Amino acid sequence: MMQAAVLVEPGRFEIEERPIPKPGPGEALIRISRVGICGTDLHIFHGHYAAEQLPMVPGHEFTGTIAALGPDVTGLTPGGKVVVDMNIGCTRCFWCRRNEILNCPEMRQMGITMDGAFAEHMVVPARLVIPAPDRVSDAVLALTEPLACVVRAARKARVSFGQSALVIGAGPIGNLHVQLLRTIGAAPIIVTDIAADRVALALDCGADIGVSDPATLRQTVLEATQGRGADLVIESVGQADLYRTGLRLMRKGGHLAAFGLTGPDAELALPILDTILQENSVKGSVAGMGQDMHDALTLLVYGRIATDAFTRAAYPLAEIQAAFDSIADRPGDLKTQIVMPS
Ligand SMILES: [Zn+2]
Ligand SMILES: [Zn+2]
Repeated sequence: MMQAAVLVEPGRFEIEERPIPKPGPGEALIRISRVGICGTDLHIFHGHYAAEQLPMVPGHEFTGTIAALGPDVTGLTPGGKVVVDMNIGCTRCFWCRRNEILNCPEMRQMGITMDGAFAEHMVVPARLVIPAPDRVSDAVLALTEPLACVVRAARKARVSFGQSALVIGAGPIGNLHVQLLRTIGAAPIIVTDIAADRVALALDCGADIGVSDPATLRQTVLEATQGRGADLVIESVGQADLYRTGLRLMRKGGHLAAFGLTGPDAELALPILDTILQENSVKGSVAGMGQDMHDALTLLVYGRIATDAFTRAAYPLAEIQAAFDSIADRPGDLKTQIVMPS
């Protein structure tokens, strides 16, 4: 038997004893070691997202080891550390062939549309298992999935060295955007958030300029970009008014990376003529998959990302309720992770 944290209703986990699942053909049984709590998990916890799935086991930012393999699985070895791509596509459709799995009509996501990783074991498609070096800590490996989301956004935005960037939001994902931009060589990197301590942390993590007073943001961005506005703006909060701010602070011909999730009805009005004449672009992206996961893992393995603020808050599975209940009171912890019993 194994323990699993089941979200039985919004706001309430119960630890259940369940049989350890068996991997079928094409599947791998993962012994989970560590799982990050994502903003999406918080939305599910509060009943704002995927509420129709309850009761369910959330959790999709995880690492572990291969406990067993299905009968026909080759190329993987039981015992080794792994991370897992959470997005399950059909593999055959137009969208899957393009690694745009969120558009696959049969798309499923671990911990969102099916039971996930806040459990001691989990069965996953073996093709989505990515071996990881044993020398990298579980705490760092559990950051692969959130970093992959940021990697994909940078890829879609075609970030290159010397580009100015404005990151709106200095939470966990905003911080990772800042760090990846720094690694790529974007400059200057401006970060803004109304939480001054998170702006300070983003400055520690590689941002050049921090703004916590929205009234000074425009002036600061213009001064840092010779009056043009930022080459790249990344909205990483999910508020329609901040998207509008982002559009206004983007230079002519710039790129707005739409990343922060809004409600389904939020809209952004684009001035058509400016969009045409200035060659402006807006592109959405939020989930890392396929090569994004591999690239994120490489960046973590080779120490390109500062992870201390992401890895120090860890709760045992038995205390998952306390971990979720206390997150809002711990803004200095960029990430909270759940550790499985060993
Ligand atoms: Zn996530
Ligand atoms: Zn598909």
